[in-house]
Amino acid sequence: MSRPGAEPLHPSATGGITTAPANAPATSPATSPATDPGQRAGELRQLLNRAAHAYYVLDSPLMEDPVYDQLYRELLELEQAHPQLISPDSPTQRVGGAPVEGFVSVGHRIGLLSLDNAFSLPELEAWYGRLLKVLDREPQSGEALPALPLVAELKIDGNALALSYEHGVLVRAATRGDGERGEEITANVRTIASVPLRLQLENPPAWVEVRGEALIPDGTFAAINQERAARGEALFANPRNACAGTLRQLDPRVVAARRLDFFAYTLHLSGDWQATGPDPARPSSQWESLQWLAAAGFRVNPNAERCPDLAAVEAFFGRWDMGRRQLPYATDGVVVKLDDLRLQADAGFTQKAPRWAIALKYPAEEAPSKLLRLSCQVGRTGVVTPVAEFEPVPLAGTTVSRATLHNADRLVELDLHSGDTVVVRKAGEIIPEVVRVLAELRPAGAQRLQLPHSCPECGSELVREAGEAATRCVNSSCPAILRGSLRHWVSKGALDVDGLGSKLIEQLVDRGLVRSIADLYRLDGALLASLERMGETSASKLVAALETSKQQPWHRQLYGLGIHHVGEVNAKALARAFGSAAELDAAASETPEQITAIHGIGGEIAESLQQWFATPANHQLLAQLAAVGFALARTEAERAAADQASGSDNTLLAGLTFVLTGTLPALSRSQAQGLIEAAGGKVSGSVSKKTSYVVAGSEAGSKLSKAESLGVPVLSEAELLNLLQQN
Ligand code: NAD
Repeated sequence: MSRPGAEPLHPSATGGITTAPANAPATSPATSPATDPGQRAGELRQLLNRAAHAYYVLDSPLMEDPVYDQLYRELLELEQAHPQLISPDSPTQRVGGAPVEGFVSVGHRIGLLSLDNAFSLPELEAWYGRLLKVLDREPQSGEALPALPLVAELKIDGNALALSYEHGVLVRAATRGDGERGEEITANVRTIASVPLRLQLENPPAWVEVRGEALIPDGTFAAINQERAARGEALFANPRNACAGTLRQLDPRVVAARRLDFFAYTLHLSGDWQATGPDPARPSSQWESLQWLAAAGFRVNPNAERCPDLAAVEAFFGRWDMGRRQLPYATDGVVVKLDDLRLQADAGFTQKAPRWAIALKYPAEEAPSKLLRLSCQVGRTGVVTPVAEFEPVPLAGTTVSRATLHNADRLVELDLHSGDTVVVRKAGEIIPEVVRVLAELRPAGAQRLQLPHSCPECGSELVREAGEAATRCVNSSCPAILRGSLRHWVSKGALDVDGLGSKLIEQLVDRGLVRSIADLYRLDGALLASLERMGETSASKLVAALETSKQQPWHRQLYGLGIHHVGEVNAKALARAFGSAAELDAAASETPEQITAIHGIGGEIAESLQQWFATPANHQLLAQLAAVGFALARTEAERAAADQASGSDNTLLAGLTFVLTGTLPALSRSQAQGLIEAAGGKVSGSVSKKTSYVVAGSEAGSKLSKAESLGVPVLSEAELLNLLQQN
């Protein structure tokens, strides 16, 4: 199956991977050997301890926080199931990291612990249940859950500090360290503008400790990393590490330059302090503590809320999931605290964290998972994509169990082995991907995984063109390619045919009922009704939907053909310029400059069109589509609209040619092009002496310099809009 210029893939590869068609159920067993719990606990302990050292001491994390959290959770669960595995050096038995050398280590008067985490609402509810139990407030059977007032605060992703004030004056600032001892960093903390050096109280307590979070705002973080990159220094992984690194600078002037911020959230008052004069009263709740701190001159995060019950906390958590993305600093969850300080004291602490508080974390966008198998997916263009299938993990609100590895190079780069623990990433709507492998957790005897040399669908030899990243199946009758083309043809942006899903397409192809897109239009209702999960009604609806699809606009038909590089936007631009497949064919083969003259369409697209129209099988497809009733041209309605537009009296810019360059402040390129064309003007892709105007936005490049050298007038977006408003 090789073509000239195409190299067979990995001639020396010995295979060794399991392959499966897209959407096929897993047929091969997991490749990872079963691990002994003691051995796994040991591996996790070692890896997590190394990660904690890199994170807390070196300020240079080895892995992403959610990955650490998930592995930590796995260790915790192993230790809970097998308590004999708990060892004193386990990260589950310690808070933070050891104090760093180079600073004076100081003991905390009151232990500065961590927080337990909840990764879901049920886990939050379980925490609340435990809290009620400790406080002896569990409901009797049939009774409603007692509501304890709570405070919800944003969990700021910074570094905890303990600030001691004597008679109102800041005397000591320390990091959390291992919870018992931290580093004394008073000189550095004095440079933080939002930390009062003296409390704004008439009658300050003889001693008070204020705790809160030091942070570096996102903007400052970006600037610090830019400076470090310019000096060739290693970049900080995130604002929290940058903040930790800054707090440990030996030169307070460097700290001052980095403009840290501080939000106070915890107050420890000496027992005998009572308010006098205008001072706020001694707080009896967390909520009042926050008011007290604000009155004493601290910056308190304004986004905290006093919640009458757990439902209000859950609503707060939901609201801030989106809201926190607008904040100029990083947050990774919500800290929920029992409001009443007396009840807090009753609930007390575990070895690592208070029982009266919990950190409810937002869904992770990255997580580790165990690779089960590697399969291959063959797309409609024949491109073979390796796909990692792993144990399901919750990520960014959905459960993910497959992720693309893009291409063979990526597979090599990842150095993926059977049974590997992979780090999977999915942010919001983004397609999940494997970002790396945790080689430290690789089982002994694991085999390196490679792409196969033959197509998992049709068995023909896979090829990789010189200089291309993609590996392809070049057998045009490969069923996977046909299935992909059909899926694309009926998709929303193309012909938008309802009722023709992947499963049905699979049946049609597998039974040989459909061998080309055009065959869809020859399907008979009775035959369709006899297929799995189909009935007479759905079959006749589908036949009608297919018939209606013949009236879809020309640009959708063009997009539906699935020509390389011709996406929805390009298809629209091409369909505007060329009224039919025949016109486009003529331009592609004879006058490609007509194609590249369209704004936004470059040589790569023209070349791809030329190749497509030069392929006999594609001409055959066009003929078949025409035979089943496709015009492959502008519909009547489109023609009428185009005539109306050209006959409209808006000829303000008639005869003028514009070139757009750079990013315009308000309009997208296509919006600007639309406005110009609606006023009778033309938009071209290159500047020449004939260009009437160049419209330049920010970061305009060579087109702007060319306009200047040719003396072509340059307009800003505002000037273009002015021009359009003239009558
Ligand atoms: P944590 O960050 O999960 O939670 C406790 C901390 O939350 C407190 O110490 C405090 O600093 C902070 N906090 C923020 N807002 C607060 C508020 N309103 N009220 C109270 N506290 C608030 O726990 P941790 O013990 O500091 O560290 C564990 C975290 O560190 C984990 O999330 C883990 O991902 C990360 N970590 C990562 C690595 C790695 O390799 N990437 C290694 C070790 C630890």
